[in-house]
Amino acid sequence: MTGEDARCEACWELKSLRPALAIQAPAFLPESASDARESNEAPSLLDSILWMAAPKKRRTIEVNRCRRRNPNKLIKVKRNIDVCPECGNLKQKHVLCGYCYAKVKAETRLIRLEIRKKEGGPFNTPTVETVVLYDGEKPTENDKGKRIIERARKRPSWFVQN
Ligand SMILES: [Zn+2]
Repeated sequence: MTGEDARCEACWELKSLRPALAIQAPAFLPESASDARESNEAPSLLDSILWMAAPKKRRTIEVNRCRRRNPNKLIKVKRNIDVCPECGNLKQKHVLCGYCYAKVKAETRLIRLEIRKKEGGPFNTPTVETVVLYDGEKPTENDKGKRIIERARKRPSWFVQN
């Protein structure tokens, strides 16, 4: 008994010297066991482990399936799919058709390239309106004084001339 006590005292001295152990319980946990048993037993490694909550009972397969196949968890069927009036691709009703929008973006990019070629660099934009003319189109009286960008292709149906 005496030898055990002496060893334990030595352990306690060592522990008090080192502030941080490798595995240590959070500071908010009260150090309950260590003080009480310090006289007869060395503190074991299990004292410093924080035990998490674990399920106490097995859930049956029926309960699990009810949870997993709950209608709230399933993918909803979309009923707002419509046919694009321009191209015929499927699209959502409240959303612009992605296929048509890609075409518009590509054409806009080409027009911008044409504009950049004409300006020859940044900060050269004239302070007049810009008109885009396609193949076989002549500038009207309304376009007088405006900057004219020409595209070497037929006018697309969605790009209305005004
Ligand atoms: Zn479309």
